[in-house]
Amino acid sequence: MPKKNQYTIVVTGGSRGIGREICKSLAIPDAHVYFNYFNPGDPEGEAAAAAETQKALEKKGTASSSYSVDVSSEVAVTEFFDTIINETGRVDVLVNNAGITRDSLLVRMKTKAWDDVLSINLKGTFLCSRIAAKVMMKQREGRIINIASVVGVTGNAGQANYVASKAGVIGLTKTLAKELASRGVTVNAIAPGYIETDMTATLPENVKDAFLAQIPLGRPGKPEDVASAVAFLASEKASYMTGQVIHVSGGMYI
Ligand code: NAP
Repeated sequence: MPKKNQYTIVVTGGSRGIGREICKSLAIPDAHVYFNYFNPGDPEGEAAAAAETQKALEKKGTASSSYSVDVSSEVAVTEFFDTIINETGRVDVLVNNAGITRDSLLVRMKTKAWDDVLSINLKGTFLCSRIAAKVMMKQREGRIINIASVVGVTGNAGQANYVASKAGVIGLTKTLAKELASRGVTVNAIAPGYIETDMTATLPENVKDAFLAQIPLGRPGKPEDVASAVAFLASEKASYMTGQVIHVSGGMYI
């Protein structure tokens, strides 16, 4: 059971992929990890994935709670944080990781594909950060870490919605860093490149090959590669860094 004033870590989209590794990399015995996920089309699958993350945390001696919460819903996000604030009363680290892709060339892009990606990737980051920022300002400490993407810096044909959302996340990161610095709260972003997860597993082979050809280190990244950068940003060692974008992409952007 979470305790009042316990060190509190919140990770969005923690059931699978990069989010699961982030939960594991931040797990310390005295902390309580809250994470969410949202896939109403596959309730059994999402619950099983969340249970696997919780089991991995338990093995590390870290307690956790998981909830099906859509980050693009203001009501759902508010309820999620109300639960956290009632239980521990703190938010020490927020990692805005939940994200989706709905790729197509702009001229063929459906408005729904644009709206869904912007709502989850960018509005979701705004909604969670707005609540966490208020708690962190009162605490006079806290870390917000946003998962952006290398394409949010470089652009990428076929991903106008996703690129716009991730460029937005980078702008939001820099602005929030300026707004919260005087209260001891740091805000940074990570820009992963091509990381092997469910998100990239369905890419056509020719697209995967094209990504690989752009990676000087010559291999796709693993969720652990991103998670270790998150752990660094959440640590005391990163206390003098704010408003930065760390690229974890094997050199895709130099
Ligand atoms: P993933 O394997 O598809 O996992 C996505 C996670 O987000 C899942 O936990 C999913 O929950 C959750 N999620 C999706 N929609 C949600 C919503 N509306 N509300 C709450 N949670 C939601 O993706 P990933 O590859 O780990 O990506 C994680 C982050 O890294 C994303 O922001 C992505 O844009 C970014 N990124 C990934 C790559 C890459 O190459 N993989 C590269 C650059 C950036 P369910 O399990 O319930 O579906």
